[in-house]
Amino acid sequence: MSYKNIFGPVHSRRLGISLGVDVIPYKYCPLNCVYCEVLRTNHLTIHRQEFFPPEEILSKVREVLATNPELDYVTFSGAGEPTLYSKLGEVILSIKKEFPQYKLAILTNGALLNHPSVRKEILPLDLILPSLDTCNPETFKKINRPHPSIKVSDLISGLIALRKEYSGPIWLEIFIIAGLNDSEEELESLSKAINRIQPDKVQLNSLDRPGAEFWVKPAGTRVLREVQRFLSERVDVPVEIIARIPSDKDELMIPPEIEGIIAKIINDHPSTVEEIAKASELHINEVSHYLRQLHLEHKINIKPSEKGPLFVWKKS
Ligand code: SF4
Repeated sequence: MSYKNIFGPVHSRRLGISLGVDVIPYKYCPLNCVYCEVLRTNHLTIHRQEFFPPEEILSKVREVLATNPELDYVTFSGAGEPTLYSKLGEVILSIKKEFPQYKLAILTNGALLNHPSVRKEILPLDLILPSLDTCNPETFKKINRPHPSIKVSDLISGLIALRKEYSGPIWLEIFIIAGLNDSEEELESLSKAINRIQPDKVQLNSLDRPGAEFWVKPAGTRVLREVQRFLSERVDVPVEIIARIPSDKDELMIPPEIEGIIAKIINDHPSTVEEIAKASELHINEVSHYLRQLHLEHKINIKPSEKGPLFVWKKS
């Protein structure tokens, strides 16, 4: 079975209707964030590789875009860091040339953006969504658990350089974990970094469904609003909360056949998100979206385990 490089379209709070293009095999990443929705990084790396021939990815993209789907964005994202793909620039240019009517975006942790060649490859994109959770090296180790060669100061320098070279919008995501990066000291240094990076906006996120480590909890509306207030008083750009808050309306409809497939898999065998993705032949990010929705609808339970959270269908 070939790797599922395309997923969705999915409804995304940040991007509207987004078609995901995943150019990285499962969990190759320079970071191993404690909140990662696709669990622990099993290939902690900074080496860019040609994981798939560009033609293989492009032919899958063409197959979908040739049907003229209604999309807000075609988004490079997935269960790893897309800038690790050494042919990323080539794939971006080809899609731009062949399908100029679609806007292209990337979700990136920014860890490789201090390399001028990586920045150059992503300049043709219509939107860049990098992350920065802290400026403190100790907190960076606690939250993002980076590859030993990645320093948070380099990550920040890369973002500042990107802003100088890229004229399109940059939406900077900060993932808030109460007790780790919401102190005045943390937020003060983040606000200084934001003023140097000058993104077009800052988006505050929080845990939506179990992350790589079970002890990470959602920050809660009060904490998020407090962080928003603190940063808004100190930075020159809008700061918005993108984390799901309890009053949010559900955005996602699960096709009944997909719900049936997931129910069948986890009814008798509690499974991790990765196991469900393998058994269902869905992309892991799609499975993540569906599990989040099923959890909101109280149809599944989540249990901690050594290999990560296990999803269990609730017996009626
Ligand atoms: S959240 Fe993103 S950057 Fe962090 S480990 Fe997961 S894929 Fe890598």
